[in-house]
Amino acid sequence: MRSTSPGRRSRGLWRRALKVLVGGVDSPVRSFRGVGGTPVFFARGRGAYLFDVDGRRYLDLVSSWGANILGNAPPGVVAAVRRAAGRGLTFGAPSPLEHELAERIRQAVPRLERIRFVSSGTEAVMSAVRAARGFTHRAKVVKFAGGYHGHSDGLLARAGSGVAHQSLPDSAGVPRGVVQDTLVCRYNDPAGLAELFEREGRSVAAVVVEPVAGNMGVVPPHDRFLETISSLARRYGALVIADEVITGFRLRRGTIHERLGLTADLVTLGKIVGGGMPVGAYGGRRDVMDVVAPVGPVYQAGTLSGNPVAMAAGAAMLDLLTPEVYRNLERMGAQLEEQLNQFAEAERVRPFTVQRVGSMVGLFFAPGPIQDDRGARRSNRARYARFFHAALDNGLYLPPSRLETTFVSAAIRPSDLARAQPALRAGFRAARGIG
Ligand SMILES: *Cc1c(COP(=O)(O)O)cnc(C)c1O
Repeated sequence: MRSTSPGRRSRGLWRRALKVLVGGVDSPVRSFRGVGGTPVFFARGRGAYLFDVDGRRYLDLVSSWGANILGNAPPGVVAAVRRAAGRGLTFGAPSPLEHELAERIRQAVPRLERIRFVSSGTEAVMSAVRAARGFTHRAKVVKFAGGYHGHSDGLLARAGSGVAHQSLPDSAGVPRGVVQDTLVCRYNDPAGLAELFEREGRSVAAVVVEPVAGNMGVVPPHDRFLETISSLARRYGALVIADEVITGFRLRRGTIHERLGLTADLVTLGKIVGGGMPVGAYGGRRDVMDVVAPVGPVYQAGTLSGNPVAMAAGAAMLDLLTPEVYRNLERMGAQLEEQLNQFAEAERVRPFTVQRVGSMVGLFFAPGPIQDDRGARRSNRARYARFFHAALDNGLYLPPSRLETTFVSAAIRPSDLARAQPALRAGFRAARGIG
């Protein structure tokens, strides 16, 4: 199948970008390596739609990996950014916008007694782990296979084979020694976690977990999984870090872990709370956060941390996240799920599984239910690539990787999804061709 996307201008820009940027991009998934072909270059976005440099329009189901919960360029956020920018792009000194955003976050998540802003989700998790280690005077960190917590060295670990829980670097350039204190367990496997704690529990500083996994498609937690994390951590004196960089303010106004039975000491945020600007945040129990400098001995800093323009964007975004927004997101997520299942069925594409939590939609060309990274990886890569390109040719922008989450934004209306039906249908027809 020959793809008609992208157009001539995108192809030209791609050739130029390849000559000056590593692999033509600033973040690997954007390169389309996961689906083949040439990336589309975007000129602008508005509401539910993205417009490429060749003048083509796409319904946006990536939503900048979840950050654009209100769609592209929401006027209220753009106005706040303009206002803030006119007053100064950075001060390197306190401005009221920092505590104004922190107050809004704490109003929604009262357990965040103290908050620190950074510039990315990666920094947020890396710093939360450092604070947990500083607080507990322990070294080890537990993460789950298929969970993504940014690209800090210590968290780029994968489960090793052979010796149980002996982890290996998940990237070249990360020395074995750096991940030796990172223990990798299976998601949704409370028994495996209990066994790990039995052996290593007394040296575990923290367990870091996505309360709804969103980096291996969408994998919801089993009932007992999150509760087991909390109770084991409590019993062994380890902390729990809820990584809500995706889920924070996406599934409700606030965090989701407490609703799902997870008691967290620290929480990390990003994506939505930056309103489309580079922001991350970590926060939680005051006694734990007080280990961070300048109050405590754990060093963490940032030239552009709490940047006024980014803080203004985040505050404007949170002010726009009304209960109506979340009701709409749920409705649109459900409609997308229904359409996906309907067309997969109509085109007789099997196996196909949709796993949805609110506006997070995971598509797997694999049998469900998918409970962990092993199940997610079974999703047929070639089929997803065909599906992706046929949808793209028909004006639908999906994540260019089978293991990423599809995000619905609140700018999407029922009529937008109705208009996307031929694109979905074409996607499944293309996917059917191979097995
Ligand atoms: C995106 C993401 C991160 C990393 O955030 P960046 O801003 O890309 O550094 C961390 N944790 C989770 C759960 C994420 O989805």
